[in-house]
Amino acid sequence: MKQYHLNTNCVQAGYTPKNGEPRVLPITQSTTYKYDSSEDMGKLFDLTASGYFYTRLQNPTNDAVAAKIAALEGGVAAVLTSSGQAASFFSIFNICSAGDHVVSTSAIYGGTFNLFSVTMKKLGIDFTFVSPDADDAELNAAFKPNTKVVFGESLSNPALIVLDIEKFAKLAHAHGVPLVVDNTFPTPVNCRPFEFGADIVMHSTTKYMDGHATSVGGVIVDSGNFDWTQNDKFPGLTTPDDSYHGVTYTESFGKGAYITKAVVQLMRDLGSVPAPQNSFLLNLGLETLFLRVERHCQNALAVAKFLEADDRVAWVNYPGLKSSKYYDLAQKYMPNGTCGVVSFGLKTGRDGAVKFMDSLKLAAIVTHVADCRTCVLHPASTTHRQLSSEELDACGVGEDLIRFSVGIEHVDDIIADLEQALDSNQNRDS
Ligand code: PLP
Repeated sequence: MKQYHLNTNCVQAGYTPKNGEPRVLPITQSTTYKYDSSEDMGKLFDLTASGYFYTRLQNPTNDAVAAKIAALEGGVAAVLTSSGQAASFFSIFNICSAGDHVVSTSAIYGGTFNLFSVTMKKLGIDFTFVSPDADDAELNAAFKPNTKVVFGESLSNPALIVLDIEKFAKLAHAHGVPLVVDNTFPTPVNCRPFEFGADIVMHSTTKYMDGHATSVGGVIVDSGNFDWTQNDKFPGLTTPDDSYHGVTYTESFGKGAYITKAVVQLMRDLGSVPAPQNSFLLNLGLETLFLRVERHCQNALAVAKFLEADDRVAWVNYPGLKSSKYYDLAQKYMPNGTCGVVSFGLKTGRDGAVKFMDSLKLAAIVTHVADCRTCVLHPASTTHRQLSSEELDACGVGEDLIRFSVGIEHVDDIIADLEQALDSNQNRDS
């Protein structure tokens, strides 16, 4: 089959209508599907025939969008979830249970940190957090005999730390476990973690993929490259599942084992399926993902350069700037651009940050990040407020950090807004 370019796949992958069928992906807003006999339906429950029977497990709209994202990441299969949080949880819980251990970088989204360090810990899964910049000795020391997976963010929210994916993939593989990468910020348009050895990728599709702030969602994609049978660490995949008539996922589904288990076991038991209507909206977002990401990155680089040149700004962090500690890693893993998010601090510190943000007119203060409208957030007093000062430091989130999510408006208007807010911030301080 012809391999299309990524921007073609953004528009076309996942749904190919047959003669006379709708050109636009239809919304199958039905929980259930009709069969002629109980025997027909029984085969579906036994996983001996494929077909739809209940939308919590599979739905044509959701599946088409999952297939599109799998194509964008270069994976073999994907499952959509109702949120990015559900995707993070499922990506780990699909191969870990009570008594297991996970190595995660500390530079991750605050909600993921909380999920791991509080909620999953209550389920008996233990986490060791390592600096993404740690040396090999420190990283190797984090592993235990019961370590089952390594987790990191390709470009962390909000610290914008670029993960050395190849280093972490080699490390994980040396210990016989897979690397899961949260690729939300760069999206597959800018970074394709499978090409550097990552095994599983997950996203909060709520961000650039949806792109319009309409729908919370998530996705998990499997590269199909990790050999789950290489050791005895993954009995959930390599031994019979009594809750599914003794199916052994690796034997019956090969490279599809991990995603099949996530669907038929985790989705069956825990739900977290997206509404088909939301998947339809996500698909509309994906159709323009390539164009939007390009413009986000152009605008963000211009904003970062503007801020860097202003002497009221204490520091700017944007991996696309040559001054960034992560510039070289960004050039390696995301050479065409990083993301639209720029973080910075003002010389007036935490109080100055809050005043500055209140003065912005075009950029709105919202919890959200990474949609087409420019928006801004002070993580230390919002998304990360439950973290201690030490935990904030570990995540790379200073108390003065302003997260500025550059949209796709005209860049001159965005910069003018920053300029007037800086002026009024300075006025109020004097
Ligand atoms: N991963 C990253 C990098 C995020 O930024 C977020 C949310 O901000 C999540 C995961 C969680 O996603 P959601 O809000 O869709 O549950």
